[in-house]
Amino acid sequence: MRVTGQRASRLVIIGGSDAGTSAALRAREVDPSVEVTVIVSDSFPNYSICGLPFYLSGEVPDWHGLAYRTAEEITGVGVRLRLEHTAKGSTR
Ligand SMILES: Cc1cc2nc3c(=O)[nH]c(=O)nc-3n(C[C@H](O)[C@H](O)[C@H](O)COP(=O)(O)OP(=O)(O)OC[C@H]3O[C@@H](n4cnc5c(N)ncnc54)[C@H](O)[C@@H]3O)c2cc1C
Repeated sequence: MRVTGQRASRLVIIGGSDAGTSAALRAREVDPSVEVTVIVSDSFPNYSICGLPFYLSGEVPDWHGLAYRTAEEITGVGVRLRLEHTAKGSTR
């Protein structure tokens, strides 16, 4: 959502897996002044869901290794993360 005038632009993204994290990082890249908040119901963002079979098979011994990026890497570029938060409704 872009708010014109004196207020900064704000973007709220629901979900912080591949799509949500990519959108958040790209938004910051395109416009570093935009305030990006990602709401994630999980405890950890940006995990490779596709990698779960490799963890279950033991090929990836530590599930932390399934993370594409850590929370610190994401917040490090100015994205606000709200982990363990579930969006229950929305307003336009
Ligand atoms: C076992 C497995 C193997 C796969 N292998 C492949 C593969 O090899 N190649 C391939 O292309 N695809 C594969 N996929 C599919 C791929 O994982 C998905 O297409 C991809 O994860 C979709 O990414 P996404 O970010 O759109 O959604 P998701 O990964 O589903 O992430 C959605 C995120 O939003 C959060 N969320 C949802 N609702 C809310 C809410 N109301 N409030 C807050 N947070 C919310 C969830 O907690 C989650 O973090 C596989 C999937 C599985 C399960």
